[in-house]
Amino acid sequence: MALLTGRTAVVTGGAQGIGRAIAEVFVREGARVVIGDLDPQAAEAAAKELGGPSVARAAACDVTVAADVDALLGAALDTFGSLDVMVNNAGITRDATLRTMTEEQFDQVVDVHLKGTWNGTRKAAAIMRERKRGAIVNISSLSGKVGMVGQTNYSAAKAGIVGLSKAAAKELAHHGVRVNVIQPGLIRTAMTEAMPRKAWDQKMAEIPMGRAGEPHEVATVALFLASELSSYMTGAVLEVTGGRLM
Ligand code: NDP
Repeated sequence: MALLTGRTAVVTGGAQGIGRAIAEVFVREGARVVIGDLDPQAAEAAAKELGGPSVARAAACDVTVAADVDALLGAALDTFGSLDVMVNNAGITRDATLRTMTEEQFDQVVDVHLKGTWNGTRKAAAIMRERKRGAIVNISSLSGKVGMVGQTNYSAAKAGIVGLSKAAAKELAHHGVRVNVIQPGLIRTAMTEAMPRKAWDQKMAEIPMGRAGEPHEVATVALFLASELSSYMTGAVLEVTGGRLM
């Protein structure tokens, strides 16, 4: 039997990149998925490619807006009748050194990652705790473990996701809801393809496995944390980095 048969999952930022790969793996494992993304057309296109309305739906959602997250989770309940897995994946970067970063760049990144993940976690938890079952997977970053030059905003937000998730894991464990975190390293997506060549090469040099990761290699770890394979895990942080900065 597939690992997520009969389960409904919501994936934020699921129109492309890592979120899209997670949605794809989940559908392959029997889940019905609702993709929430800033870009409704891209989300629609992704849902169609994943198999159409019987298994995948799209909803416009800005994770920084609590009402949008309510509507996204409402779409999962209305369409598929449950909410079993929540993946808080939506993300942006606004890299700049401390000397040049604007307050707006700081606020934008903290808002999308930290407030967005908080919104997704608290809203999903409110539904899951009533049903005494659920798995929440939050996407942090290696940048939140070690701190990266040019990312005081992103590193702060991604480290914050770890603290948020551990606190939530403690609050929700006795309600049957697990909260775990993934810290990807260098994964080949639109976000990293925008990176200057020099920065890419520097990161590559730090990876013992000698290559960047592919989105599906994060997605299969999300599958593990979303499924009963990880039934005794909560508050854990799993690095998916090819051994980089272990
Ligand atoms: P992408 O830029 O490819 O995808 C991110 C998605 O999130 C986009 O579809 C984007 O929509 C969406 N999004 C952005 N802001 C919001 C918002 N406010 N509300 C809803 N959706 C939003 O990035 P990745 O797939 O690379 O990254 C996915 C996650 O993984 C992020 O949290 C990222 O920080 C994390 N990560 C990525 C790593 C990598 O190497 N790629 C490494 C470590 C962590 P739109 O395109 O319309 O803006």
